[in-house]
Amino acid sequence: MTRELTCIVCPRGCSLKVELAANGSVETVEGFACPRGKQYAIDECTHPMRTVTSTVRATNGDPVPVKTSRTIPKELIFDCMKEINAASVTLPVHIGDVVIANLLDTGADIIVTAERG
Ligand code: SF4
Repeated sequence: MTRELTCIVCPRGCSLKVELAANGSVETVEGFACPRGKQYAIDECTHPMRTVTSTVRATNGDPVPVKTSRTIPKELIFDCMKEINAASVTLPVHIGDVVIANLLDTGADIIVTAERG
């Protein structure tokens, strides 16, 4: 089976072609211009990961931008958004402040990405 992907690691957006074995393992990757693209293709076909960006509410109602400190498994995004929607912060907050530590046991934190307060 062949999968065609666009690498999202950098703005160049290389077109990747991945040959998969019947058991889902990656046999070959073509089209990458650097090793990060090859790794992206392998990860995307075996255990896709994503950085999540969103906002949490401050106690005064203002939205505060946040993101995951590192990528998390794509299948956890829905549960991640439930955790973010249930969270709130008290102003002031600073870039890098941890809103949720070890989100869903992924090792990723939800951190603030802008100064507010
Ligand atoms: S393969 Fe490398 S150069 Fe191409 S989009 Fe991915 S990261 Fe960028």
